[in-house]
Amino acid sequence: MDTIACSSCFVDQGLRLDAEQIGIAGDASCPNCGSTEGKKLDKSFLSSLAYRFFVWGSFGRTEYGGAPLIQFNELQKTTITPPPWMQADVALFESLLGIGFFYYGPRLWMVGEIEPLKALESLKERPKIIAKILKTYPSRHIESNRNFYRIRKDPKHPDLHTEFDSPPNPYLGSGRLDSLELPILYASPDLEVCVHECRVTAEDELYLATLVPSRVLKVLDLSVIPDESESVTEFESLDMAIHQLFMAGKHSYEITRAIAGAAKQAGFDGIIYPSYFSLLRLGLMPLRTTYGLSHRRAPELQAQEESFTVPNLAVFDRPIESGLLKVACINKLVLSRVAYEFHFGPASF
Ligand SMILES: [Zn+2]
Repeated sequence: MDTIACSSCFVDQGLRLDAEQIGIAGDASCPNCGSTEGKKLDKSFLSSLAYRFFVWGSFGRTEYGGAPLIQFNELQKTTITPPPWMQADVALFESLLGIGFFYYGPRLWMVGEIEPLKALESLKERPKIIAKILKTYPSRHIESNRNFYRIRKDPKHPDLHTEFDSPPNPYLGSGRLDSLELPILYASPDLEVCVHECRVTAEDELYLATLVPSRVLKVLDLSVIPDESESVTEFESLDMAIHQLFMAGKHSYEITRAIAGAAKQAGFDGIIYPSYFSLLRLGLMPLRTTYGLSHRRAPELQAQEESFTVPNLAVFDRPIESGLLKVACINKLVLSRVAYEFHFGPASF
């Protein structure tokens, strides 16, 4: 390993801690600061540190999508203004990597300027795009040997199967897909997703139901990257529209509920959709690009991008009451340890 710096070289505490995670322990003294204690960084580790701290660390969400506010490359001089304690740190990156940091003007598709998404926001054009979604995304069969999980916080009668059904009417209309017209039972094959999406805390009494379909379920799968012509750009992509729609907050629920309603009308039992939590669960930066092109539009990267999605299942109406889903088992769920992983970014620049 060709050490050029170490975690002790940095003044900013966030950069030091990030460098400790990325670097490797070793007895040799650092050629830059002379420390023997710091975790050692070679050129590629130092470059990873610059990316994670400045690029990912400055990622800001917009109404749909989002983008990093800082970028760096070997062609530009630094034009950001780091806080006083970080100036020597920035100078170290500049001299050792030959790079400059600058304000990034994102490609507009990254911040939601996508034609199908704009059309979904318009009440007039929405039905046309939803019809296209139903035609473009695959229909999947879920066999009756598949398990799904559903968690309830503080149920009155934890042994009662219907406690795990879609919520009663007064509670409808607060989730991503449910409305008074269409109750939804949310479940997932991934237990960690379930725990996260329930926003549980240590004080909650938690119960877990294992659910199995009583017959083959026919669902609309929105978690895959559909076949779109390679000539379709990010600006025109239905996939990019759906991807950003399911990443977005409450302002997007009106649209996702309309998609659920249309899928129900079309005879589906439910929807598989990408989890809001996927990226966090897998520790990935949203909307990854190379030279401003989305990885989701690159054919050689699509299988990998798809594997980054943890699917969620939404079943229409009240499937436990109707017998479509059976409660195979109910357990108490005990939170024994909660772990968070994090890294840092600049607070001002
Ligand atoms: Zn050092």
